[in-house]
Amino acid sequence: MTYDLIIIGGGPAGAAAAVYASRKRLKTLFITAEWGGQSVVSEQIFNWIGTPAISGSELANNLKNHVLANAGESLEVKEGVKVDLISKEKDIFKIKTDSKEEFRTKTILIATGSGRRKLEAKNADRLEHKGLTYCASCDGPLFADMDVAVVGGGNAAFESAAQLLAYCKSVTLLHRIETYRADEITVEKVLKNPKMKAIKNVEILEIKGDKFVEGIVYRPARPHDGSGAGGDKITGKETELKVSGIFVEIGQIPNTDFVKNLLPLDKVGRIKINPLNQKTEIPGIWAAGDCTDVLYHQNNIAAGDAVRALEDIYLYLHTK
Ligand SMILES: Cc1cc2nc3c(=O)[nH]c(=O)nc-3n(C[C@H](O)[C@H](O)[C@H](O)COP(=O)(O)OP(=O)(O)OC[C@H]3O[C@@H](n4cnc5c(N)ncnc54)[C@H](O)[C@@H]3O)c2cc1C
Repeated sequence: MTYDLIIIGGGPAGAAAAVYASRKRLKTLFITAEWGGQSVVSEQIFNWIGTPAISGSELANNLKNHVLANAGESLEVKEGVKVDLISKEKDIFKIKTDSKEEFRTKTILIATGSGRRKLEAKNADRLEHKGLTYCASCDGPLFADMDVAVVGGGNAAFESAAQLLAYCKSVTLLHRIETYRADEITVEKVLKNPKMKAIKNVEILEIKGDKFVEGIVYRPARPHDGSGAGGDKITGKETELKVSGIFVEIGQIPNTDFVKNLLPLDKVGRIKINPLNQKTEIPGIWAAGDCTDVLYHQNNIAAGDAVRALEDIYLYLHTK
């Protein structure tokens, strides 16, 4: 059997696409490794339109329920399954999964989002889950009344710091450059907390600790633009900050490994798309959300991009 469409990914992009595909009665298979996508770890999401505030896990549940409410007639759902490979044979695509299944389809929408960028510093791997973590809302409460560090300078780093400030003794944010990528309003709010300290222009060298994190070693970062800006860069002195927990929020890596031999990607691995219609450079494959090279990545944008893709896929299937 050959599907009209296979949607890969169960975040806001994939979920929105599944709802539209079912309403358009496309013979669709929806495959996702997990439900809800990356913001599932977020304690509060304040800008998902229609809900003044919602937790990441509640958002994930809502997405799942909305997709499942449309499943049945034309929409089939496979959860807990990862797509490993896509190949093309004439006008038909073949999709292979880690459950060793193979599916055929006329079109594909890739909505596989992105995952965490790992900290490259001595002992960071060894001490992961032993004080070094990538999820403040999951592990933060374990560090109540302790000194902790957050590595990063975007919204996720500042959101993590804000959560940790509620119960940690102190939070030090270490950032590699001079400017923060986080929204100004969030930066201001977090930095004015008396338990908060921020150090900019640093390079993380090493995580200290035998069985559990005991500290983080950094030194003034080499200037990116050669200007030498950033105070103690001149000394290059290594400093050890004693902390019991380290929360890393240094960005995302797109989940596109399984298409790297099929689709053109940009230099950070995101799928190149035409933002007018979400088409990739291979006819029959569309992509939407954080796995693509659009400039901004947010829940609402991912869902909207996927809807745009679905409109285009529908036209493609019906005018071919
Ligand atoms: C901590 C944090 C907080 C955030 N807070 C906000 C916020 O407050 N507001 C906001 O608008 N945005 C926020 N974002 C950004 C937002 O989460 C993303 O823009 C959005 O999730 C992107 O949606 P997506 O559907 O493209 O991808 P994702 O949400 O990443 O979903 C991808 C899905 O694909 C699945 N998948 C991946 N690879 C495969 C595969 N090979 N086979 C099958 N399935 C696969 C995954 O399991 C996942 O379900 C936050 C992000 C983070 C990390």
